[in-house]
Amino acid sequence: MFLSVVVPCYNEEESVPALVQRLAKAIAPWKDRSEILLVDDGSSDATWAAIEAARAGCPQLQGIRLSGNRGHQVALTAGLEAARGERILMLDADLQDPPELLGDMMSLMDRGYDVVYGQRAERQGETMFKKVSAHVFYRVLNLLSDVDIPRDTGDFRLVSRRALDAVLAMPERARFVRGLFALVGFEQIALQYRRAPREAGETKYPLKKMVRLAVDAMTALSTKPLKIATRMAFLSLMAAAGAVVYLVWSMVTHQTAPGWASLFLTISIFSSIQLFTLGIMGEYIGRIYTEAKGRPLYFLSEDTRGTMAAPGTAD
Ligand code: UDP
Ligand code: MG
Repeated sequence: MFLSVVVPCYNEEESVPALVQRLAKAIAPWKDRSEILLVDDGSSDATWAAIEAARAGCPQLQGIRLSGNRGHQVALTAGLEAARGERILMLDADLQDPPELLGDMMSLMDRGYDVVYGQRAERQGETMFKKVSAHVFYRVLNLLSDVDIPRDTGDFRLVSRRALDAVLAMPERARFVRGLFALVGFEQIALQYRRAPREAGETKYPLKKMVRLAVDAMTALSTKPLKIATRMAFLSLMAAAGAVVYLVWSMVTHQTAPGWASLFLTISIFSSIQLFTLGIMGEYIGRIYTEAKGRPLYFLSEDTRGTMAAPGTAD
């Protein structure tokens, strides 16, 4: 049984040495039947140099480097496409997800599960804002999407080859990896863990990237927002009906009410609903456009495995 470990790294020069050390220890039982794949997501610091340096002390370590910063989910996808293992572990570079859980995950998989995902029972050393926004995100996502995505899970998970192949068979450019794994089915099980604080450096997920991930997740998994937009259109129909009733009433009774404020309010409420629904449609249309272009997700600029892989293809 061959094991691959995939780690996306963006400006993680400080984390890489400790990461490799702890990973090497964790995969020791599978020493000759394993690989660690660090994916440098076009870092602007010395991450690539750190990966190359760490290879001296860890023969299973390989690195690939994307030609530019493509984001966490694309970097992860690049690593998953390159992975050769029959079982594949993915985790963050900052050691918030403890590699030591690998043993427990492996034994769950021995019992027949295809996906063992880490579920955060507790988050340490993260800001209140991050905790609250993550909490809201998973709940809104489940409300809106047609797939049941386990709450409070990140991308920390051990998956079988057939589950991974199912995910890689999904051709969409908008990669929301944990959602895709929720989508493929098979037997899945959660493993509770305490999320440690970041080992070094700071978060690579500023608000902008978080919002993009959230919108990607919702549009990738569901068309419910579009249906909500339709329902809002019904609201304005009701308002129009109300306006007709009012018109008839004022003509019959010859009373004209000084309705400036209510008129103004109505117009602004409904024009904002219109803009909102237009925005929702725009998000989907933009994504149709991106998917239609079918551009490769990433290009590799470095590859320690010797052979230069073709863009976006496995091995
Ligand atoms: N990451 C990446 N590309 C990016 C941003 C982040 O590969 O553009 C990686 C990062 O190096 C880390 C993982 O994604 O391994 C999660 O990022 P981070 O720990 O900063 O997110 P947080 O834990 O704060 O949500
Ligand atoms: Mg982190």
